[in-house]
Amino acid sequence: MRDLLGGFLSLLAPARCAGCDEAAEGPAVFCHFCAMLAEPVSDRGAVFEYGGPVADAIQRFKYDGRSEFGAGLGAVMAEEAYHWAEKVDVVVPVPLHWRRRRARGYDQAALLARPVAKSLGVPVLLRGLRRVRNTPRQVDLPHAERQKNIAGAFVPYRLGGAGRVLLVDDVRTTGATLRAASEALRAGGVSEVHAFVLAARVLVQAT
Ligand SMILES: [Zn+2]
Repeated sequence: MRDLLGGFLSLLAPARCAGCDEAAEGPAVFCHFCAMLAEPVSDRGAVFEYGGPVADAIQRFKYDGRSEFGAGLGAVMAEEAYHWAEKVDVVVPVPLHWRRRRARGYDQAALLARPVAKSLGVPVLLRGLRRVRNTPRQVDLPHAERQKNIAGAFVPYRLGGAGRVLLVDDVRTTGATLRAASEALRAGGVSEVHAFVLAARVLVQAT
């Protein structure tokens, strides 16, 4: 019966690999091939280097409405979140502006933050920060302009006296977004901020 039901459910929603969008076996978010191509980073603030199937997965998850990949990508982050066990009291996702969240139908960082918080056994504060400016996408801007674009975009909101925060986002490029969000957390009385992202872009320094 269980097999029948499982088979029926998989017909309804065939499991896909987030990296290549091919039918995937099992619950893993990446198929065997994409998992081999995903580059882990040694930096504890990120799981993968941005690129290849990881970049494709994030593209699908963020811009193609594929919110179903949130649970699997969040589970990958949750597995790597043990560095912060006992070191943080809450998890706060970097929020989208409400306009963008409404257009997208979900907030990708919130979907990633939930499994991370669960694995650490701490609460997730989905409204810990508010994005008060609907800034142009960082990815569309030259690096030099990103800090200016994002400065003051966040304000502390419902932090409930949180002391040590793990800030969660999908991608880190220059770190400008995480910096702006950290400043808002500190303005809200948070004593320690750590940042954790699914993928970090390896920057080529402009000369
Ligand atoms: Zn794949």
